[in-house]
Amino acid sequence: MSVTRTFLSGADVVLPDRVALGLTVVMEGDRIVDLTSGPRELSNSERRVDATGQLVVPGFVDVHVHGVMGIDVLDGADAVSAVARELSRFGVTAFCPTSIACSPDTLSAFLDSVAAARSAPEPGAARVLRAHLESNFINPEYNGAQPAEWLWTYEDATKRPLRSFFSPDVGILTMAPEMPGGMDLLRAAVQAGIRVSLGHSGATFDQAREAIDAGARHATHLFNRMSPMDHRDPGLVGAVLSSDEVAAELICDGHHVHPAVMRVAIAAKGHSRVMAITDGTSGSGLPRGTCARLGGRNITVGDVARLDDGTLAGSVATMDRVFATLVAQAGQSLVEAALLCSTTPARELGLIGQGVIAPGRLADLAILTPDLRVVQTWVGGRTSHPVRP
Ligand SMILES: [Zn+2]
Repeated sequence: MSVTRTFLSGADVVLPDRVALGLTVVMEGDRIVDLTSGPRELSNSERRVDATGQLVVPGFVDVHVHGVMGIDVLDGADAVSAVARELSRFGVTAFCPTSIACSPDTLSAFLDSVAAARSAPEPGAARVLRAHLESNFINPEYNGAQPAEWLWTYEDATKRPLRSFFSPDVGILTMAPEMPGGMDLLRAAVQAGIRVSLGHSGATFDQAREAIDAGARHATHLFNRMSPMDHRDPGLVGAVLSSDEVAAELICDGHHVHPAVMRVAIAAKGHSRVMAITDGTSGSGLPRGTCARLGGRNITVGDVARLDDGTLAGSVATMDRVFATLVAQAGQSLVEAALLCSTTPARELGLIGQGVIAPGRLADLAILTPDLRVVQTWVGGRTSHPVRP
């Protein structure tokens, strides 16, 4: 007889308002159907997975990730599916494959790879969400590791086929609203149902507010590669911190943003408006000193990823490390870290049923050791790792 119910038992379970000790999470199909305490006899069609002494958290949702374990999402036809398989090892149950500024052909191939991965999800692999384009429409003075040769203004772009940017496989568009035609692009993207994210931008406070009033609802890696906050000149950082309409990504690897500043940002915006991200590259999960690739260029793995010229080029973090950094360095409770890594990004992206452990929600879970290492990840009640009977 096939198993219809799985009882994940004995773990401490991180709920939206507390950590429940020794709870059993009951899964049936792709859903959580019950949360119970105490053992009971199982029927032949039920199985128990013993998680005693471990921690169960809602699966992590990373809205900004370029790659992991040597694979970049821009690597070609199977790249996005391969990243989805690898990310589940780190507790991720859903992610936005994220491009960097690239050629129209590369972008088109990337979006094909996203579409293919979304149409054929693999059991136990992280769910592939619509793409995040860390796009061609950013400010060259704030490009960071984005290749300058592929930076365009909207006016340039209107001379090229634009279909890719407004494709149904695009969920988030990072852009600089102060660039020529930037506000026209922003309005067109919002009109097309794309979530506009302010980033790689030198926008003044007033320019940023104009963009927010026109529908921008997301900020790309708050503090990194954007006009900073001065007490008389609040810049884009000040506009994001003071605008409740905008949810901010925060790279929580402990290197891109000082943990004290992570605390300040979380306090300013609240846990319901901050999305912890990795900004992970193909170097994520690999040993220090390893060479990897970002959008076709070499990077080297250290505390962060760096281009050959030393430019900071994203992180080498994984979401389990982000979760642990929030707890160990930024003073966040387990419940608060789960809000930042799962609940808020899921809600901001409109992912019904994800990001919270509760009956009726999707069985997207990560099981962690007490020192916050991933033991197992469940996506829709399936795990790609072997399950002990
Ligand atoms: Zn990035």
